[in-house]
Amino acid sequence: MSDLNWDFHCHSTASDGLLPAAEVARRAAGNGVQLLALTDHDDLAGLAPARAVADELGMGFVNGVEVSIEWEGTSFHVVGLGFDAEHPVLNEGLASIRAGRMDRARRMAEALDAIAIRGALEGAMAFAENPHLISRAHFARYLVQIGLCKDVHSVFENYLTPGKPGYVDHRWATLEDAVAWIRAAGGVAVVAHPGRYKISNGALRRFLGEFKDVGGEGIEVVTGSHSPDQVHHFARLARHYGFLASRGSDFHGPQESYTDLGRLAALPDDLTPLCARFV
Ligand code: AMP
Ligand code: MN
Ligand code: MN
Ligand code: MN
Repeated sequence: MSDLNWDFHCHSTASDGLLPAAEVARRAAGNGVQLLALTDHDDLAGLAPARAVADELGMGFVNGVEVSIEWEGTSFHVVGLGFDAEHPVLNEGLASIRAGRMDRARRMAEALDAIAIRGALEGAMAFAENPHLISRAHFARYLVQIGLCKDVHSVFENYLTPGKPGYVDHRWATLEDAVAWIRAAGGVAVVAHPGRYKISNGALRRFLGEFKDVGGEGIEVVTGSHSPDQVHHFARLARHYGFLASRGSDFHGPQESYTDLGRLAALPDDLTPLCARFV
């Protein structure tokens, strides 16, 4: 298992990625990925085209999604893997999050208008291939296009994160609902990129405890945004909570991601790799 190249976290134009789902699968196979999960935010539209290419190229494929949730006022992401993509409970839950996205996008555009940045809703929508999945990433691309910042990272730092003028609070799904939808559809729930949440260690441990209590089973240990120290740290937490360990690039596109598909370190040997469920 340790020599299998698996990547269980990436995005296509079905959410805020830059490549169509079929191209994501093709690029993954070209990079040597043997087992891929596409995990678009709150939408399953990319799964069928990605799976078709995976089948054609002989690459394994697992259904995935990255669900946006809010817990004690902070937003977190929970990845669902290996579910039935037709399941009504999961599909209805994701549809409710998508409806909330459009409302948030309008409020973001108003907040930006208040600091004299005009036309942000239309501008962001022009970058969203899937109009139901309007994201801060699309706003960021528009703000780069109009010359406000040099790249999307500086847009996030200066405009789109908590405390900045274009950021608005939003009620996403609850932790309990997100895990329940994934499990209802037969999937495994995994905490995405735990190193990215700006909360205390104590709060993160409470979050992980609640996640386990409501039926969560896995945690990303190796991801595109974790340093080697963070890999050690989250490996320790995976052992402590008895979580399955996941590995994913969080690839969004060649221009916007630090880590390309499948170009990831191996998991520490003693962890139980999530891919074992799917091979
Ligand atoms: P949303 O789901 O609309 O709140 O947008 C969140 C998305 O924005 C994430 O999935 C990332 O793709 C992107 N994002 C968040 N923070 C940053 C950042 N600091 N730099 C670049 N992209 C970011
Ligand atoms: Mn994203
Ligand atoms: Mn995420
Ligand atoms: Mn992601």
